[in-house]
Amino acid sequence: MVETVEKTADVSAVEPIHLSERPTEAPLLGRSLESLTEWVMQQGQPAYRGKQLHQWIYGKGIRSLDEVTVFSKQWRSQLKDFPIGRSQLHYRSVSPDGTIKYLLKLIDGHIIEAVGIPSDKRLTVCVSSQIGCPMGCDFCATGKGGFARNLEVHEIVDQVLTVQEDFQRRVSNIVFMGMGEPLLNTENVVAAVRSLNQDIGIGQRMITVSTVGIPGYIRRLAEQRLQITLAVSLHASNQTQRVQLIPSAEKYPLKDLLDECRDYVKITGRRVTFEYVVLADLNDQREHALELASELRGFQSHVNLIPYNPITEVDYQRPTRQRVEEFTQQLKEKGITVSVRYSRGLDKDAACGQLRASKAVSSVS
Ligand code: SAH
Ligand code: SF4
Repeated sequence: MVETVEKTADVSAVEPIHLSERPTEAPLLGRSLESLTEWVMQQGQPAYRGKQLHQWIYGKGIRSLDEVTVFSKQWRSQLKDFPIGRSQLHYRSVSPDGTIKYLLKLIDGHIIEAVGIPSDKRLTVCVSSQIGCPMGCDFCATGKGGFARNLEVHEIVDQVLTVQEDFQRRVSNIVFMGMGEPLLNTENVVAAVRSLNQDIGIGQRMITVSTVGIPGYIRRLAEQRLQITLAVSLHASNQTQRVQLIPSAEKYPLKDLLDECRDYVKITGRRVTFEYVVLADLNDQREHALELASELRGFQSHVNLIPYNPITEVDYQRPTRQRVEEFTQQLKEKGITVSVRYSRGLDKDAACGQLRASKAVSSVS
């Protein structure tokens, strides 16, 4: 269960980020080849041991330095308690469609979720960036569960290695669409993206960071010049409706959010995806499609409709397939590029917005 520290975020109070080097005492997972080489040299070892260590951490998935048989016995036993940074598998549940949900136990006992979504050509991992989420969006299970803390770099990278090892297949795509608001943890998310790219070999273009929007942070992310895809959770075609669904939007007018997204496109040359949770009879009417199309006119973007996945705390309704198709058509007629995401893993509470890590299970299944 997530320990609730605070319910909703005052986004105006968010501290500015400083992208910095990771502290030297940080666990080894998530560190670059250069940083690992520096670390072994600090231990009085030759530089080539850094490359070996990198291979054993990212290629062989070691959980203790004691497993690195190419290192001397004496050095291994000296180092055996130095943290690699792997989490413990707490629970694993397989959905009939092949989606696998993992509950991972962190060193401080908190539980987070990751989801592996296989298809013929891809293996996508939906990763968490925080324990819980402070944004409190009304339709989201994570938002209803409170917030504990940001995830560290190794805790993000570990989710991907865990799924890759379990499927015995290379992960091709990453979506930061699990628990948490990635831009409230920009520094660690950016460092994790770099590690996933350089250390595990996942193309930056295969990585999507989804955000509900934190004032100023989309521009900061753009300045990192990553080739990732930015997905912005819009969910409404006007400010009034957006505030009803997303309380934090009150301090972030839709116009300002869209301006920052335009800057993102200018700075990175990458188009933005807008996510839109379709809630029956609420934001799925023709007038909403027209309003959305007018807001996005001339914008290098793509709209991804997500039919609402029901959660128990609220009584929003999932739209029918026909309504979603009509809404799609109405957007297309106005020249908007649009796709629909029918979430997988619905029966295991592993679909978008259903992640809450509160399954009362105590063993690995
Ligand atoms: N915090 C980030 C990323 C995690 S949520 C964000 O909000 O963008 C990933 C996506 O799932 C977001 O677009 C979010 O709005 C959507 N989502 C949340 N609850 C949902 C629900 N019950 N049904 C469908 N999508 C949901
Ligand atoms: Fe947080 Fe995203 Fe859920 Fe909103 S939708 S509460 S930002 S995880």
